[in-house]
Amino acid sequence: MTAPRISFEFFPPQSLEASFRLWDTVQVLAPMGPRFISVTYGAGGTTRDLTHEAVTTLHKTTGLPVAAHLTCVNATKEETLNIANAYAEAGINQIVALRGDPPKGSGGFKAHPEGFADSCELISALADTGKFTLRVGAYPEKHPEATDHKADVEWLKRKLDAGASEALTQFFFEAETFLRFRDACADAGITAPIIPGILPIENWKGVKKFSAACGTSIPAWLDDAFDKALRDGRQDLLATALCTELCDDLLREGVEDLHFYTLNRPELTRDVCHAIGVTPQVKLQNVA
Ligand code: FAD
Repeated sequence: MTAPRISFEFFPPQSLEASFRLWDTVQVLAPMGPRFISVTYGAGGTTRDLTHEAVTTLHKTTGLPVAAHLTCVNATKEETLNIANAYAEAGINQIVALRGDPPKGSGGFKAHPEGFADSCELISALADTGKFTLRVGAYPEKHPEATDHKADVEWLKRKLDAGASEALTQFFFEAETFLRFRDACADAGITAPIIPGILPIENWKGVKKFSAACGTSIPAWLDDAFDKALRDGRQDLLATALCTELCDDLLREGVEDLHFYTLNRPELTRDVCHAIGVTPQVKLQNVA
């Protein structure tokens, strides 16, 4: 089995300590030679400036392709396109284009009166500039707001037809979940790569809460396994073993790319990458 191509997702640091942690994480993971790294855009557009700063700094210091996440939330079309243009001017030509999550407690997404109504509008406008490679989000277990699986897959096809070239999925815990989704996408005529999003589990309690919010189901066996591992202080060992097994299962089914949600922590992602045959590339080791 050949080693997969990988990419890493980070979030923008909000304090000096968090900046150091991101820096350390990038130092460990950049030498693995990711195809790209990406930086999220806080829910509600709350990290607009921090995302921009993190993206441009990583672009300058790592020499790696950096993708900026961009959402439609709380901004006019002009403001959103100005952000994108500032990226283009800084030499950043990859965007993960999303509708975005609204600010906490705001009761659901409401388009800004002068903003993009949905992700398809944003993707079309970005594609029209001709300046960006665009990726979009995808939901193997259905987005919580989608009426059903079929509508969700059809919407994904519309996003790709609007000008995106790849989709990155929400995280999931069983390979079968992704494989079923991949089949449904193929049946719907989607030919663009669908890249599985992989979440190494750093903190089981936090992951459970997050999973409930974004509609990722938790198999009972996984909950039991973490209960026991937490009692024995072996959760990192379990997390590495399970995440490696998930990646292995996907690779055996022909998956060629994996997108890791690093949560700005390098250890588990690094260990899993090593286990699936992705090792540091010497020429990149001094870059970060
Ligand atoms: P969409 O795919 O546009 O919409 C979600 C679902 O709602 C669709 O699948 C579709 O079923 C339905 N839907 C929406 N609009 C319509 C419509 N007009 N007609 C019919 N159906 C519709 N959030 C952030 O705030 N910042 C980030 O940086 C961020 N990064 C992410 C990265 C990845 C890889 C993923 C998977 C998600 C990320 N999110 C982020 C979360 C994302 O913003 C939320 O899941 C949000 O609720 C949906 O955004 P989307 O672009 O995927 O939405």
